[in-house]
Amino acid sequence: MEKTKTLVLGIDGLWPELVEKYAREGAIPNIAKLIEKGVFLRMFPLPPCDTPTNWISLVTGATPGKHGALGFNVHLPGYPLDRVLVPDTRIVEAEFIWDVAERKGLLCILVNWPFSWPPTLKKGITIAGTGPGDPRWRIEYGCVYTTHPQDPREVGIKLVRAGNWKNVPESYSPPLEAVLPLRLTRSAFVWTESGWESVATEVREATPMSMRYRERLELVSADTSKGYYALVLDFTRQGYDTVIVAKQKDARKAVAILKREKPWSDWISDVFDFKVVAKYHGAEIDESLPLGPLKGVFKLKLVELSANGDKLTIFRTDIFRTDGWISPENMASEVVENIGPYCEGLELIPIITLTRNDWNTYFELLREQANWFAKAYKYFSKKYEWNLFFMQLHIFDALNHFLLRKLCPESPDYSEEEAKRVWKIYEEALRITDDLVGKLLDLSGEDTNIVVVSDHGALPTWKLVWPGTVLMERGLLQFKEVNGKLEIDWEHTKAFPWVMDIWVNLKDRFPHGIVDEDEYEKVVEEVVDALYSLHDPETGKRVFATVVVTKKEGVFFGLSGKYVADIYYFFNPPYTDIDVHRHKILELPLREIKKLSVIQYSKTIAAHDHYLPNEKMEIFSNAAVLLMYGPNIRKASVEKPVYTIDLAPTLCFLHSIPFPAQCEGKILFEIINISEKEQKQKSGEAG
Ligand SMILES: [Zn+2]
Repeated sequence: MEKTKTLVLGIDGLWPELVEKYAREGAIPNIAKLIEKGVFLRMFPLPPCDTPTNWISLVTGATPGKHGALGFNVHLPGYPLDRVLVPDTRIVEAEFIWDVAERKGLLCILVNWPFSWPPTLKKGITIAGTGPGDPRWRIEYGCVYTTHPQDPREVGIKLVRAGNWKNVPESYSPPLEAVLPLRLTRSAFVWTESGWESVATEVREATPMSMRYRERLELVSADTSKGYYALVLDFTRQGYDTVIVAKQKDARKAVAILKREKPWSDWISDVFDFKVVAKYHGAEIDESLPLGPLKGVFKLKLVELSANGDKLTIFRTDIFRTDGWISPENMASEVVENIGPYCEGLELIPIITLTRNDWNTYFELLREQANWFAKAYKYFSKKYEWNLFFMQLHIFDALNHFLLRKLCPESPDYSEEEAKRVWKIYEEALRITDDLVGKLLDLSGEDTNIVVVSDHGALPTWKLVWPGTVLMERGLLQFKEVNGKLEIDWEHTKAFPWVMDIWVNLKDRFPHGIVDEDEYEKVVEEVVDALYSLHDPETGKRVFATVVVTKKEGVFFGLSGKYVADIYYFFNPPYTDIDVHRHKILELPLREIKKLSVIQYSKTIAAHDHYLPNEKMEIFSNAAVLLMYGPNIRKASVEKPVYTIDLAPTLCFLHSIPFPAQCEGKILFEIINISEKEQKQKSGEAG
């Protein structure tokens, strides 16, 4: 078994019912083949059913309480409550399976596995692997240049008679030109009620801030001289049909020639100057981002060019760094040369899809991304005798946060026509995923186990409840205004809801603590009581499904350890507090907060992190997917519940290596294809 090879393909936000639906309908033949010949399991994520929590549990076998990355905002013991960090490998307190494997002489390759950065592998290869939407590899987010903006997030340009150009080719209509400015809004990444969005700074200042993060940004360059020039020509006498893009007004120095029939440019590379300290998910990245100048690449797409030259729309992708994202560091140019520039998964819905509902461009980008993964797999497989290969595509989570509710007939804004359109989007995204699975299968051969895995599902939401209001009513939480800005009045606050979790303002824990140790249990009881008392007046239904007191029952939920809060709350669907939780509550005027005591319509489309792992509604569920197929896997039913912590020990067993040190999961013996004798032998080695 020394030659055991396992490829693990992670797909964020994929839930089992979606896979079953399209497998049944025949849309995903490769995945269907894996289901038929291998093992397809519903897998429970661990609460909080979030992205960092579960991608890390999958590869450490440790529960969230144990590994410490309980969400996108990790609160470190001893710090004030408003100081939070984005998790990365440095705060993860559990050992990764790849580090155990490397110690045992196995070669591991990681591509875009969430929270595997900074790299811990010494001999293996790590490509990227921060959290979704992280600004580290993006020099700038994408934008739409247009003569007729349809949305304030689009960048307005003007088409005028071209002047002072050199080497202009013959054009049947007078050449026109426009400036495509570069605006470096590097950390302009926000979580909104419809998911992650990249938004230009000026626009963010202009939009009502109640539902958005307010992050301070340093706008580095809105300097039009640092942009590109577009020269618009008529080559066929049938009106304007071609756009030449160049850095200087010289058509011979074009970096791209865009035509209607060939709208995409190749990768355009350039050097960019910036200096931004970025925030991410409202928390600081505990690392200064590198200063420019940095090399970057992007593509352009001609979206619209009218024959008479009055309309021009060009989409520019994010600008990605051409190095910095790989370890060993010196491999960047080799990868770019042989596979193509590394760019992030589509965990952000591209701006052109947000502003113009342009899903074709989204699919084109997704296909390109999937192809890059297949090429990377091919390249590294030829070059190295690897044992464990982890890669992750971040697709469905973005779709869920942006679209899921539209599929739910119970939701107040449901329309059959819109639902049909949205199902088509999911189907196409799944087809692209399936093509990738097919390519990986072809490239793998008979000796490789293939694992397709996700971290959680999602449920539609449409009712907004903020648990803080009921704490305010009970005198457990108080706000005050200081210089017109809302602050938590810590001197009169005994408990504060943060992100799915509630902290007791303990004297010996926080610099602002007021609760004595002997009052602790009473405060906890009051909070639990307050939450369970919340009912929806419209339906009589209780708002919270479960409230977990970590000191009592936390251990049964994987919620015990030094990073956990005092209380975790889990909503019944369709209730949510995403619209206002995570920092945003302090952006609201006090009168708006008080209004939240009445259940309101939520702008949030879907959620996963504050629902229970087994939550279901119609065809939606919070469950993750575990699909395994290959020479060491046998088809069998698994009668016990399977959790995200069970993947790592099962892989360890397959590869005859010890468990990661903090592993709490179990081996899924029933699906392993080895003789009984070997099993006994292996369990001796593996344990
Ligand atoms: Zn996720």
